[in-house]
Amino acid sequence: MIKDRISVRDLAEFNNKDGSLGGNILNSSRAQIGTLEHKRVQDSRGEGYLKEYSLKTSVEKFGIMLEIYGRADGIYSLDDPIVIEEIKTTKVDKISAPHLSQVKLYAYLYLIESSLKGVHYPGISIKLLYINIINREERIIKEYLTREELTIFFETQIDPYFLYLKGLKSWKDLRDTSLKELVFPFNNFREGQRDLSVNIFRAIRDSKTLFSIAPTGTGKSMASIFPALKAMGEGVVEKIFYLTAKTVGRITARDTINILREGGANIRSIVITAKEKICINKEFNCSPDSCPYALDYYKKLFLVINEILGIRDFYEENLKDLGEQYSLCPFELSLDLSNYCDIVICDYNYVFDLRVYLKRYFETKNKGFTLLVDEAHNLPDRLRSSYSCKLDRELIPPVLDILSPICKKTMNSLEAINSIMLDAIKSNSGEYTLFEEVPTDLIKALKKSCLNIEGNILDLDFKGKNLVIDWYFNTLFFIKLSELYTEGHCFVQVNRGGLGVTLEILCNDPSILFSKMLQKCNSHIFFSATLTPINYFVSLLIRDIDYEIVEIPSPFPIDNLKLIIRPDIKTTYKERSRYYSEVANIITKVRKSVSGNYMVFFPSYKYMDEVAKLIECDVLIQKPRMSEIQRAEYLNEFENKKSILSFAITGGVFSEGIDLVGDKLIGVIVVGVGLPQISIKNNILKDRYNYQFAYTYPGFNKVQQAIGRLIRHEDDRGVAILIDERFNTSQYRSLYPNEWSNSVVLTNDDDTIMTIKKFWE
Ligand code: SF4
Repeated sequence: MIKDRISVRDLAEFNNKDGSLGGNILNSSRAQIGTLEHKRVQDSRGEGYLKEYSLKTSVEKFGIMLEIYGRADGIYSLDDPIVIEEIKTTKVDKISAPHLSQVKLYAYLYLIESSLKGVHYPGISIKLLYINIINREERIIKEYLTREELTIFFETQIDPYFLYLKGLKSWKDLRDTSLKELVFPFNNFREGQRDLSVNIFRAIRDSKTLFSIAPTGTGKSMASIFPALKAMGEGVVEKIFYLTAKTVGRITARDTINILREGGANIRSIVITAKEKICINKEFNCSPDSCPYALDYYKKLFLVINEILGIRDFYEENLKDLGEQYSLCPFELSLDLSNYCDIVICDYNYVFDLRVYLKRYFETKNKGFTLLVDEAHNLPDRLRSSYSCKLDRELIPPVLDILSPICKKTMNSLEAINSIMLDAIKSNSGEYTLFEEVPTDLIKALKKSCLNIEGNILDLDFKGKNLVIDWYFNTLFFIKLSELYTEGHCFVQVNRGGLGVTLEILCNDPSILFSKMLQKCNSHIFFSATLTPINYFVSLLIRDIDYEIVEIPSPFPIDNLKLIIRPDIKTTYKERSRYYSEVANIITKVRKSVSGNYMVFFPSYKYMDEVAKLIECDVLIQKPRMSEIQRAEYLNEFENKKSILSFAITGGVFSEGIDLVGDKLIGVIVVGVGLPQISIKNNILKDRYNYQFAYTYPGFNKVQQAIGRLIRHEDDRGVAILIDERFNTSQYRSLYPNEWSNSVVLTNDDDTIMTIKKFWE
């Protein structure tokens, strides 16, 4: 028997999606700020009022046991007839069909629960209460429904959902049969790949968290997706989320899945692409009045969904084509199709970011989900920024200018925030001040301003509205984060001179919030070539979660990499200018010694430019904010030419995620230890942990990634030079991966060139 569950809210929405896409992106946020109002109403109810009353029932059909669960806002348990209340703190406009369904479903669930307790009500009243969050104007829809009417209504709601589940079940039967028979698609595993694969299978089967340190060449995508699919075939996994930090990771995952599909895996997969990127409307405006792909979206989707599901592999290009063909928004289509897909490939954000995560999957616990997290060394930074939010006072005056002719009340509420921020400058005049908590008066003022914007502004059209909307959304997120504030956060006031001040909820340790999210899934596999030191990553990512670590040796011959340390050259900020010419010399000599393509990584553009001035040959130089086309052009040079000298930034777009196989790259030089820039944020981190956590480890990770560009294939050979005295200290040496164990320390150019020539002999 297959078990499934759905919340009353989701069931109500499932059955009432027959119109256009919402278009108004603000709808979903209104409820957030109205929560307090919701609670106020519940608290005002009299004796016998049962608030947040949990209800559930189970129904079986087609060999599927479905649990329907939810929490009714309130039940007037002493009234006759009993009244079930659903409160919606929103604008008083037209009645929403899902809201009405929701309260009727709660009424039916209560009827069933009472019957099981031996109380047989002939009927129940439903009360749908809409409250305008600004003026508290109420609108009440009340109706008495007999037991029979509620029973018929319930059937009409669950039948379509059972049909949907039946379709999924048939698909899963086919899928699982194919996965049981699936064999590894190559003749042999690569070295270490089988070990990794087995560890990942066990972790998924046993619902565990696994950190896998697997060097380049292990074939991590295959080593993770193959066992995850085998576990799916065993009925352990319902859906796999393959999460990546970069586009290239999504391409590799899709290629891997296609190989497995060719090998017999009958699976559907989808790559989710950002809305802005996949949009096919002339202008990015999701209102059904402006976008034909949003208009009647659900009606159109319903007619073609079965036809579309004939496709197994969904990705940006064919989703756009489908969008054009059926006049459907490709982004919403990708989200809806993901319900039918066995593997969802997407950016971390769709799972971890509090602003854009896929609520349909991660709002509640789902024990059938497995997360495969690629290039997990990127996570601490990404999570810190996802769980932080700042308010910049300089943004207030332009918003006030826009609002002044429109709404005095909203303007006043924003002025109040402005005053709080100006007072903060007077009270705390240092460069920055740390606080344990977010000031309550600030949050109160922010909530008031959001209420005013929602009530008075959002539905109007006026010049500059986008700026107001940006401010509003950022403020909403700030309020939300203040409610999720953990001991891993701090509140920082940064004075930037004059009337410039930023107030920030800053996340230093994302592990608490992240672990809560992880607990919604069955198993989590984090993999990367550079999770060093592992304790650093574990402590920043998980809290109170058991985990295991598997470390795989490099499959490539260790002698294929010649690593030279040059501790005689200093690159610290204070001393670097004295050594520009030494750095330029060594680069020039290395390049002349053996002809080929070289990449040199620098800690900053300024440093890179200073050294570039001293180089006589042509240098391919990374520019700030390069477009995708410019990046492709930069990399193309390596395809076509055989003596490229390229300069790039350590930790930048070319220091990770690029494959320059064979003689496309024969040498990498890293200048400096890759330390992140000294900043208030990093210094706060240093004070909370230590210097290594804030600077050394993140920097070394970037260095490892840069060196990692060199050996991408078992036949690749190359020379890497690390320029900085710190690389030769015991602290840095303790971080060296096994692949670097053959490194040599040299202190002059002659020995360096001789060693390089000997290596290539
Ligand atoms: S096609 Fe573009 S504008 Fe239209 S709904 Fe989709 S994302 Fe929005």
